[in-house]
Parts: sequence; C-alpha cells; structure tokens
Amino acid sequence: MTSRPDPLAYDLDDLRDRILVEDGGAVDESIPQLAEADPELVGLALVTVDGALNASAGADARVSIQSAVKPFLFALALQDTGGEALDRVGIEPTGEAFDAIKLESGTGRPPNPMVNAGALLTASLVDGADASARSERILSGLSAFAGRQLEVDEEVAENEHLLGDRNHALAHLMRSEGTLTLSADDAVAAYARACATLVDARDLAVMGATLASGGRNPVTGVQVVSAAVARDVISVMATCGVYDGSGRWMRQVGIPAKSGVSGVIVLSAPARLGAAIVSPPLDEQGTSVRGHIASEILSADLGLHSFQTRSD
Ligand code: GLN
Repeated sequence: MTSRPDPLAYDLDDLRDRILVEDGGAVDESIPQLAEADPELVGLALVTVDGALNASAGADARVSIQSAVKPFLFALALQDTGGEALDRVGIEPTGEAFDAIKLESGTGRPPNPMVNAGALLTASLVDGADASARSERILSGLSAFAGRQLEVDEEVAENEHLLGDRNHALAHLMRSEGTLTLSADDAVAAYARACATLVDARDLAVMGATLASGGRNPVTGVQVVSAAVARDVISVMATCGVYDGSGRWMRQVGIPAKSGVSGVIVLSAPARLGAAIVSPPLDEQGTSVRGHIASEILSADLGLHSFQTRSD
C-alpha cells in the first residue's frame, strides 16, 4: 500500500489549467447578478483538518454562496434547536430538482435540508427573536464556519427574495401543512439573505474543513457546532447534496459535497480536508461542470473517495 499523497503539495494551478479547457454548461439566469457571472472564472482551494491552506489562482474571487449554504443552515438549525430540527425536516433523497414543489408525503415536512423546501425550514429554525436577529445569527454562524466576517450582497438578497416565486410557493405550502411556523415571507427573506452571502473558494474550503473536523474550525480553533451535528450534516450531504445527481456524484467523486447555482461546490472529506471550487457554468442539475470534473480528479489523485478500499 502506497502512502497517501500530500494535499498541500498538490498542484491546484495545474488542476485549474486542466479544467479550464472544459467548456460545457451554462451560467444560471435566475437573477441578473448570476446571469452576469464570468464563465471563465475558476478558483480552487483545500484546507486540511490541521488548518493548512492550498489554493489556486482565482481562489479569492467572491460569489454568492447560493445553495452551498444549505449544509451550514442545517448545522445552525440543529445546533440552535438541540437536535429538534431532525424532527422537523426529513433526510431522504428526493431524486428531484432542488426547487421541486414537493413535501414528504404523510408528514408535510420538507424532504431533506439540501433542497429548497428544507433550507427554507432550517433557516426559519435558527435562533432569532425577529427576522433581522435571525439573519444576524445566520451571518455570524456562517462567518464562524469560514473563520472571517462574511458579508451579504444586498442586491442579490433582494432579487432572490423578489424573484424566488417557487420559494414563496414552497413556504406557503409548508405553512398550509403546519410545518413552517414563521411567516412565509420571513422564511423566504432569511433563506434569500443566506444564499446571498459572499464567499470565495478559500472561505468555502475552510467551511468544509470545519465540518470535516467535527465542527471545529481548524484555522481559528473555534468549535462552531458539535461533532454530532457535523456528522449529521455530512451524512445528509452525502446522500442529498447534489439533488438528483447525488448518486452519480457519490459513485464518481465519493466525497460528501454541496453544489450551488453560482457554480460553487463545497466538499467535506471527514478527518481529511475541506475543499471548494468556484466555476459558474452549470449542468442540468445545477452543479458546476468544471467543479464536478475537478472534484473527480482531486478525489482520485488524493485518494479521497469514501468507499475506496485500496490507495492505488
Ligand atoms: N438562489 C437559489 C434558490 O433558491 C439557490 C438555488 C441553488 O443554488 N440550487 O432558489
């Protein structure tokens, strides 16, 4: 058995060059800010559970986090409710698109925290006496995961709120089932603001590494959520993180991950590292095309597939 390659010695600029020639996919057009994204932007980063960083060119380019926020909203909801969030949201994969208008049959709960219905609910469960206090708690929680003070792109937040018709529909549906207790508009506002948080590949890699390190940010040393919460979150990322592409992802990449329509992917390899890719063009499932290819290469080169039994 050969020894594992060192992630810190890995040439992420070379990987960046290799994936830049891949030109499939299209940028998201749901809001103007996403439609204007640079399709040639590529940033890669990884952070080990010891807190060491390896980053490529482009790793400091900021984009809105979009659905890559969902694991972290779930983590904060689990932490703030003492686990009660697990009774309020399912954990089964849907095999459907991220914004499917569908709740769990029989319970009226959202199917899982990685689809929009689930994230609208988990955002509503984060502590906060009112909408603005809740959004503050979400932003400070996300900042603790990233290890620096993050900011919200207010224009993105406003457009996500205004143009997110399917999210409003889902929130009203959950109200009618009695599973969402916050007002539908407050739930959409909290989720929209969370999606509009600006991050770069380095931030996301630290966030993924925090989950991979049992909830302790390996750069700052802050215990952001408990180890039990981190384990629950990574488990659900593994089965539901890439929506109706989750099975294919797990076979090909084998690292729990979450995609977002800005072209971000955050990966969390337990007890090893967190990694992230930013590249806006998306496939049918809303996953970054170059991000998917890069994740597959990185997983193979660094021996990160969860189910591999040999290192060669
Ligand atoms: N802005 C998006 C929305 O809800 C986030 C979706 C995503 O990244 N898949 O709807």
